[in-house]
Amino acid sequence: MSTDTKQELEQKLKAFVGIETGPPAPAPEPVNESMIRHWCEAMGDANPVYTDADAAKKTVHDGIVAPPTMLQGWTLRGVEMADPAKMRKNKQTELHELLSSYGYTSVVATNCDQTYTRYLRPGDRIAATTVIESISEEKATALGIGYFINTRDVFRDQRGEEVGWMTFRVLKFRPHQQPAQAAPAAGGAAPTPRRMRPIIGHDNGWWWEAVARGELLIQKCGGCGALRHPPRAMCGECQSIEWTSIRPKGTGTVYSYTVLHHPKFPGYEYPLVCALIELDEGTRIVSNLTGCAPADVRIGMPVVLSIEPVDDEMKLPLFRPARS
Ligand SMILES: [Zn+2]
Repeated sequence: MSTDTKQELEQKLKAFVGIETGPPAPAPEPVNESMIRHWCEAMGDANPVYTDADAAKKTVHDGIVAPPTMLQGWTLRGVEMADPAKMRKNKQTELHELLSSYGYTSVVATNCDQTYTRYLRPGDRIAATTVIESISEEKATALGIGYFINTRDVFRDQRGEEVGWMTFRVLKFRPHQQPAQAAPAAGGAAPTPRRMRPIIGHDNGWWWEAVARGELLIQKCGGCGALRHPPRAMCGECQSIEWTSIRPKGTGTVYSYTVLHHPKFPGYEYPLVCALIELDEGTRIVSNLTGCAPADVRIGMPVVLSIEPVDDEMKLPLFRPARS
C-alpha cells in the first residue's frame, strides 16, 4: 500500500475513535432461569446459588442470581451473527468494512476483560452500549500487519444503572498469505477449494511435521508427565516448559461430538462430524470422524486413528469407527 493510501485510511480511522457504535443493544430476553441453567450445565458449574431457589434464598443473595460471566451472553444476537446479510449495520461493522476495503480482510480477537458491578437476577433487562475506544497504529504481528481495535461495552439494567463492562480487542489484519488454492483446471474452471490452513509457529510446527509424515504425536510434560493437546509451550498442570512427545496407540472413544450443517465453508464436506476424541492414553483431541454416517455417531463409540489426506497438500489425523 502506498504511503498516501495508508495516510488516507488512517485519516478515516480517526473518525471512528471515541464514538458509540449505535444505540444501546437490548438483550432479547430478560435474565431468566432457563438460560442460567443451560449455562451452568454447559460450564459444569454446580453452585446452587445459580439454580436452586431454596438454597439460593439462604445465601447473601436471597435468591437466584446469574453467573457473572454470563454478562455478555445476555445481549449476544445468536446465530444471526454468523450471517452477514442479517448483521445489523452500525459504526463497528462500518469500521470493519472500511479496513476490509483497504485489504485488512481478516480478524482475530486478542483480548477480553470483564468487570462485574453487581450480580444479575432473573427479570433484569440488560442493554449494552459499545464505544470504539482506540485504534492502534499499523502493527506488524505474526499473523500479518493490521490495526488493533479496542472497544468498551457498558452493560446497564432497566434502571439505566451500570451492571458491568467489558473491553474487547481485535486485530483486523492483512494475512501474510492467502490459503493455498489448487491451480485452476484447464479451461479456466474454478479451483477446488481447500480446507482452511492451520497457523503454524514455533510451538506447534513439530506436531504438523509429524502429521505430514503420517504420525500423530501427543505432547508430554517433562516435569509432571501430563499429556496435553493441542501443542503449547507450557504445562497447564505444573508450568514446566520441558516436554517430550509420545506416539499414542491411536485408539480411543468419542467423548462428545457435534454435526455441522451451516455455515458451509469452502473445502469441507457437510454434514461434517466434529468430534472430541478421548485417546486411550488419557488426553483428548478435536478431529473429524470419517467412514461413519453422522446419524450413526454415538458418545462412547470406539474409534481408531486414520491419518488421511484431506486435499492434495494436507493430511489430518481423522478417526474412524473401530471394527468390533
Ligand atoms: Zn507438567
